[in-house]
Amino acid sequence: MTAAVLSGRELGARIRESVTAGISARPPGAPPPVLAVVTATADEATAWYVRSITSAAGKAGITCQVIDLGAEAAPVAISAALADLNADESVSAIMLQTPLPGSAKLADFGHLIDPAKDVDGANPLSLGRLAAGLPAFAPATAEAVVRLLDHYQVEIGGRHAVIVGRSTVVGKPAAHLLLDRHATVTICHSRIRDLPAITRTADILVAAAGRRWMLTADDIQPGAVVIDVGTNPTSDGGTTGDVDPSAAQVAGAVSPVPGGVGPVTTALLLEHVLRAHGTVI
Ligand code: NDP
Repeated sequence: MTAAVLSGRELGARIRESVTAGISARPPGAPPPVLAVVTATADEATAWYVRSITSAAGKAGITCQVIDLGAEAAPVAISAALADLNADESVSAIMLQTPLPGSAKLADFGHLIDPAKDVDGANPLSLGRLAAGLPAFAPATAEAVVRLLDHYQVEIGGRHAVIVGRSTVVGKPAAHLLLDRHATVTICHSRIRDLPAITRTADILVAAAGRRWMLTADDIQPGAVVIDVGTNPTSDGGTTGDVDPSAAQVAGAVSPVPGGVGPVTTALLLEHVLRAHGTVI
């Protein structure tokens, strides 16, 4: 048996088309949505990601403003930039890119982003609202997991979803979204004693550890649906996921890396910008 491939490209294109249509339908003279992306790094992978967001946003009719504070930016400069963008009524949406200078983390600044503009779910209020089952912007990657499952009509309710990874940007919000859809959810992390014993009970397995090919055929229940969120750089400039190619011999379906969760994530970010522009959380 070889697993079905859960590509995210068609779904990503479909979401982008609907965002473009939504923006084209705004009344004549109405201002376009504006996404502000704050960066403070010289990291080339970040620069590439920001370029790809800018390009996708532009194609959809969203104006993308990149505020590059430089790799030496002081925390106070980042806070001030976020405060200015919150106050700027022409800005619909705000994203703060990682990595940040020194030992600064997204969590140090996420709470400074207005939840109404927090399109990538960086503010802990957004995660709290998700946990409470209230409308909120989920981090786009976490939402992409569920949208990919829905696109391929994978039943979620009543099934056991196991998530490997407990970060606030992927693992935890994905868990809340799956719980909301009536899955029984188990979250695993690096202190787990026997990971395969848990992953082998998963009907839906979400790999979000950021460890190249850490889940192999031996870790997967026959027929399980596996969503690979991992993006691990390779020495030749490529990317691999957290799921080893051997998984395809056992799983019922596996999302590829690249081309699975990634294209859906970018498209959902644009969808969130459109929602934020209408100030609908
Ligand atoms: P983090 O490093 O913040 O979190 C990784 C999580 O995996 C942690 O909870 C960690 O546990 C857990 N973990 C690490 N090793 C193991 C292990 N051996 N067994 C069990 N759990 C383990 O990463 P992110 O959540 O930010 O990202 C996860 C992956 O998703 C990365 O590869 C990242 O590049 C990718 N990603 C992809 C995106 C996309 O658009 N496709 C967007 C965002 C992220 P502990 O908490 O105990 O340390």
